[in-house]
Amino acid sequence: MKHDPALSEKLIDGKAIARRLTDRVKAEAETLRERTGKIPGLAVVLVGDDPASEVYVRNKAIQTHRAGMRSFMHMLPETTSQDELLELIARLNADPQIHGILVQLPLPKQIDPILVTNAIAPHKDVDGLGEVNAGRLSLGIDGLVPCTPLGCLILLKETLPALRGLHAVIIGASNLVGKPMAQLLLKEGCTVSVGHIDTKDARALAREGDILVVATGKNGLVRGDWIKPGATVIDVGITRIALPDGKTRLVGDVAFDEAAPIAGHITPVPGGVGPMTIACLLHNTLQAARKILENGQDSTGRSEQTP
Ligand code: NAD
Repeated sequence: MKHDPALSEKLIDGKAIARRLTDRVKAEAETLRERTGKIPGLAVVLVGDDPASEVYVRNKAIQTHRAGMRSFMHMLPETTSQDELLELIARLNADPQIHGILVQLPLPKQIDPILVTNAIAPHKDVDGLGEVNAGRLSLGIDGLVPCTPLGCLILLKETLPALRGLHAVIIGASNLVGKPMAQLLLKEGCTVSVGHIDTKDARALAREGDILVVATGKNGLVRGDWIKPGATVIDVGITRIALPDGKTRLVGDVAFDEAAPIAGHITPVPGGVGPMTIACLLHNTLQAARKILENGQDSTGRSEQTP
């Protein structure tokens, strides 16, 4: 890509924003350690040997250490049964060294992902995907918010002076990204529309968005003529494509070269939403540890104040 000063002003630098958030988390984790003598701990569980997931999980462990927190990795074989995984989660729920638990998705087909995410104690559910945290989000009550949409919201808040009253269009309606993103933006006072695979004219819908968040997993789906001039575009999609020279490259759901001249602001892939997801995981782990260590909640989530 040629250096274009106008383009660099439009780019939302997820790497830099994530670095600042991680630095803040690190400083706050240190303060928590000084006050309580305890270090926040994050357990990440990976089932199976998908190389891409393994890279994500190892990267999460490295970043956790960098933020001054403890990382506990559990790599289980593809043949792990649902009961074995549930037993591990029960042990992690009861372990006072662990304040956050993340089970890397997708899981092998013998394991029900809904059952597993709901088995994580809600106060340690740092991915925010269990029904308690999802319910809290939909009711507008404080809880642990899924990391990727939380990262997108932070990027939007860093980019735009105000979100209230803007029309936010989200293309993609998954439990992981699209639905929690819609709840977060509603809470910010946006008018929210959600498009998905059965939406009759997703292009026309997308063109109405002052904010456009795309999370479909279909690389290059969103072309230049899907973008309202001046819109803020957040591209969540990540697809690894093979290049003619045998190398690979990560691309998003938005055709960047077409969209960037029309958008007011846009995230690159890589270097946009991806780094924010990990930074938000660390942020959520710190929040969970604080609640457990400072608000008198014991490691099982019971509060000393509750009879
Ligand atoms: P998903 O497959 O669970 O959901 C995809 C959604 O997109 C569905 O609601 C579907 O209806 C919609 N969709 C698919 N094709 C469409 C089309 N042609 N038109 C309109 N809507 C369409 O996917 P997901 O888990 O939400 O992930 C989406 C993408 O985001 C993937 O590329 C994933 O790798 C990426 N992702 C990135 C991060 C990150 O940290 N950057 C985190 C999570 C997911």
